[in-house]
Amino acid sequence: MEYRFLGKSGLKVSALSFGAWVTFGDQMNVDAAYACMKEAYDAGCNFFDNAEVYADGQAETIMGEVLRKGGWTRSDLVLSTKIFWGGKGPNDRGLSRKHILEGTDKALGRLGVDYVDLLFCHRPDIHTPLEETVRAMHHVVTQGKALYWGTSEWSAAQIRQAYDIARREHLIPPSMEQPQYNMFVRDRVEKEYAALYDEIGLGTTIWSPLASGILTGKYNDGIPEGSRMSLENYQWLLPQLQSDEGRRKIEVVKALAPVAADLGCTMPQLALAWCLTNDDVSTVITGASRPEQVTENMKSLTIAEQLTPDVLETIEGILGNRPTAEQDWRQS
Ligand code: NDP
Repeated sequence: MEYRFLGKSGLKVSALSFGAWVTFGDQMNVDAAYACMKEAYDAGCNFFDNAEVYADGQAETIMGEVLRKGGWTRSDLVLSTKIFWGGKGPNDRGLSRKHILEGTDKALGRLGVDYVDLLFCHRPDIHTPLEETVRAMHHVVTQGKALYWGTSEWSAAQIRQAYDIARREHLIPPSMEQPQYNMFVRDRVEKEYAALYDEIGLGTTIWSPLASGILTGKYNDGIPEGSRMSLENYQWLLPQLQSDEGRRKIEVVKALAPVAADLGCTMPQLALAWCLTNDDVSTVITGASRPEQVTENMKSLTIAEQLTPDVLETIEGILGNRPTAEQDWRQS
């Protein structure tokens, strides 16, 4: 495993990490989740991601049980959760001081830990003054209930504003952002946040590196039984697959298959390796519904080493986005 600094913080996270969305609770019980997390842990993953909203808190409960079952040393782990959607009551959602403090306490209870390493504001909350949120996150960190705080799917302007408030008020600023990043969704990570990496030392823990599985090639000929897109609760993902844009994506995945074959790897490994080649990515949060997928995905680290500038340019060509002088960050 390779370990990368989380932005300019002193924290090291495994370049490949593992998250609980969709799978824990909806597809996997404790034993199945344990099998996947153990496979990831044994491959060197130290970072495990969660959120209060995943399976309405059940994903945290399951992860807590897995942690106890694994008996792993707490200091060897980097655990995260995300606060925003904590329930149906008027104060159970958003980023008020009340929900951040109460939501964090409940999440820690479900996980069965005294602190999370990373605490994310799961979305921006336009109804709460930003200074209230920044002060609440600072408070949670100074209480020792989280070691670092950050954001998820905030705009660059919102992250910068939170950082500026923290600096002005002598509070702890955000250290990381959790954005979607994969071969199809790139602009935020590659363009919008570009200045933030150097200027505020932002780290990134990127999500859906396989575009919910589309990049594995498993949807090239329809929707396999038991796959994410076949799940009743996740039919809202289907337009990603069945729209004109979705059909274009499938064509791209089919065109990428020979590149994977030339490298002697699978499509999931190629797509994950591609994410790893971006130095502004601190960790790629992988997801899996069974341990065999974890085993396969963890091998993408060695494939990343084979992604030479020539191979990356071939991939850019297939993605329909040939690099120009300005965006040619991979080859520098
Ligand atoms: P991916 O896009 O990588 O999708 C993972 C899914 O793809 C798996 O659950 C599995 O689904 C399928 N898959 C994975 N590996 C393989 C393989 N080798 N072969 C075939 N199928 C495979 O990631 P996720 O969307 O799961 O996101 C990863 C993590 O990111 C989440 O767990 C969560 O922690 C975080 N996240 C954060 C968000 C945020 O807003 N901050 C939003 C979404 C995710 P199946 O087998 O069921 O088809």
